[in-house]
Amino acid sequence: MNFDAYQSDLFDREHLWHPYTSATHPLPAYKVERAEGCTLTLDNGARLVDGMSSWWCAVHGYNHPVLNRAVAEQLGRMSHVMFGGLTHEPAIALGKLLLDIVPPSMQKIFYADSGSVAVEVALKMAVQYQFAKGCPRRNNFVTIRSGYHGDTWNAMSVCDPVTGMHNLFGPALPVRHFVPSPQSRFGGEWDEDDIRPLREVVEAHHDELAGLILEPVVQGAGGMRFYHPQYLREAAALCRRHGLLLIFDEIATGFGRTGKLFACEHAGVEPDIMCIGKALTGGYMTFSAVLTTDEVAATISDRYPHAFMHGPTFMGNPLACAVARASVELLLASDWQQKVKAIERQLCEELAPARSLPQVADVRVLGAIGVVEMREPVDMAWIQCRFVEEGVWVRPFGRLVYIMPPFIIRPDELRKLTSALVKIVSETEAHGQ
Ligand SMILES: *Cc1c(COP(=O)(O)O)cnc(C)c1O
Repeated sequence: MNFDAYQSDLFDREHLWHPYTSATHPLPAYKVERAEGCTLTLDNGARLVDGMSSWWCAVHGYNHPVLNRAVAEQLGRMSHVMFGGLTHEPAIALGKLLLDIVPPSMQKIFYADSGSVAVEVALKMAVQYQFAKGCPRRNNFVTIRSGYHGDTWNAMSVCDPVTGMHNLFGPALPVRHFVPSPQSRFGGEWDEDDIRPLREVVEAHHDELAGLILEPVVQGAGGMRFYHPQYLREAAALCRRHGLLLIFDEIATGFGRTGKLFACEHAGVEPDIMCIGKALTGGYMTFSAVLTTDEVAATISDRYPHAFMHGPTFMGNPLACAVARASVELLLASDWQQKVKAIERQLCEELAPARSLPQVADVRVLGAIGVVEMREPVDMAWIQCRFVEEGVWVRPFGRLVYIMPPFIIRPDELRKLTSALVKIVSETEAHGQ
């Protein structure tokens, strides 16, 4: 195959660091000239059907006229003002909209800059809550394995200790309590033993635990696993019984991706603290929010220092708020449920043939997420190039080849993605036979 045809700019190669990539021996980075709908157009004219939504974000596709207009109109008024002592209509309007759609107990909103920062804020909120409750020793966390919560220090500390970065940063990271991730699959039987490890840790260590953090139902970058919602109901009961705050990281799952607006709706469970991000702005810019209950907010605010100790420079950025509002309104006004259902049906049908391939360990689909889990890690240099040759944008990691397209994808575009995926996966060397 021809790497040269897609050789990236020399400057990019020499000077720009890409995510989780070597600066000295990077794999090729394809140069995108423009993006529209579900199509990424490269500088050599190649058109790729996007299967990634730019990491869960671009649910409406790219270059959407409604979102473009929202940014442009806000830009004409002000791109930013500080949120300390000032407020503005985009922040208020977005807040009202969010309160209409999140679990009803979520009443207070803290805007933050990115998903990772939202997780930091959520963890700090839980620690400050316990402090205000007179339990300063309750400052640690329990979580489930195979999770992913971001790349900043404390977010990293609650990521899966094996697939995350613990071996690298281990000694420098706070030590958390990890329990096995639930084995009962979404849509399968509930195994009561699944909750036992969490129950044991919570019963033994609740006097040092501020809270439990997890991704409800879908574990994303930590393993693309879909687990049984009963786990959340049991976990919530344990948290209530032992005074832990329940923190849901809905950064990847929020805004319809799993077939519900928020994944916790599969379980009918409300958290004490909830993080949202990624698709919040429809993929237009970085932004996130941490939501919590009146009780958590009042407890923190009623005791010294009477304030929640966090305040990013770009908190409540008006451009981000304006485009987030437009994106959420666009989503709610669309028939997103039917679209996600249709994507789910098509993914189920068209990825099924991969199940019989010897290289494939598992195929699973939930909402607009389709996962082909291989028996062996894929050869990234080879597979990335093959996807581009087939005219699709799919970016696997480890043993996971997955797609989560924009909700606006057409059936023929999705068919192009699934058929390329099955074809390329079948070309990988047969392992495990
Ligand atoms: C992506 C992600 C984050 C981190 O968000 P960033 O915006 O990349 O910092 C946190 N939690 C989950 C579940 C995510 O998928």
